[in-house]
Amino acid sequence: MRDIDQIHIQNSELEPFGPVTDPGSAASALLLQQGKTWPLLSGNYDGLNSVRVKRFSFDGFSVKVQFNPGRIVSSSAKVDAKSISERKCFLCRENLPAEQRGILLDLNYLVLANPFPIFPEHLTIPHLEHIPQAITGAFGDMMEITRSLGSRFSLFYNGPKCGASAPDHLHFQAGNRGFLPIESELSHLVTTYGEPVPCDEALSVHAVDDTLRRYFVARSGSKDQLQLFFEAYYQAFDEISSTGEEPMMNILAWYDEPVWTVLFFLREKHRPSHYFREDEGNILLSPASVDFGGVCITPREKDYEKMSTESLREIFSEVSLNREAFSEVVKRTSIPLHL
Ligand SMILES: [Zn+2]
Repeated sequence: MRDIDQIHIQNSELEPFGPVTDPGSAASALLLQQGKTWPLLSGNYDGLNSVRVKRFSFDGFSVKVQFNPGRIVSSSAKVDAKSISERKCFLCRENLPAEQRGILLDLNYLVLANPFPIFPEHLTIPHLEHIPQAITGAFGDMMEITRSLGSRFSLFYNGPKCGASAPDHLHFQAGNRGFLPIESELSHLVTTYGEPVPCDEALSVHAVDDTLRRYFVARSGSKDQLQLFFEAYYQAFDEISSTGEEPMMNILAWYDEPVWTVLFFLREKHRPSHYFREDEGNILLSPASVDFGGVCITPREKDYEKMSTESLREIFSEVSLNREAFSEVVKRTSIPLHL
């Protein structure tokens, strides 16, 4: 096994690549360092410069479609139990490529360069231990990491059946701010499509149905308040989905001192019927947090070419939790008030 000391990169090795004053700036420097020393990564970032993007407008928001052939491995990943048990875990330290270095964060997580980037700066943040992808017990960690990385990055979580290509190994990802359309559109979306959910004044929660996606938006400067909301919402969603597994979700979070903004996208299913079609309606799109944030990734050019407003509507209506179930989750989400 590669020792953590061999993977953890010292500030002195990062300083030639930029100021290293906090974990966010260190992560940016890490990406530059890795780009210089890891040919696979620099090749994939070169490829990112030539991706094609088109933009679709909806009522008050937009969705970009990115043709990114480098993402074929992730989009078509087999995540069934048998396939997972037969492959080496690519997030475990012993299997990291020799060139890969990382930043040890809060003792339990490693900040790594994602070798198959979507964002101009794209990180993968695995737990040091090989434990299952599950948000219960890790939501507080997610908030801490979001705060540690500061205002440069948005953090995201893909549930084990909602786009995580390593459902057996707890991890988050992060991408630079300013890339996902929903970040800048959120105020308008909440005003236009949101309904306030009763909660303590130290917390603000809205349930939003923007016709494509159904989600909660929680904002607070208190991690404890966010945790209370998370537990209340999770319990309500768990009752409705009653599968015995984690209710299907993607989470997106960012931090602007001193406030977190956290979006919880509720899911109906993992992959849309388009993914499995055997006729010309086939589209290889496997939505996860980034797609819900407004950037849909198509690794095949023909899918990029044929994507339309109508097909985006169909795909999101299949993978977002249906309207009735969402209303029921909202109704049952009872946030304890601090009186
Ligand atoms: Zn692992």
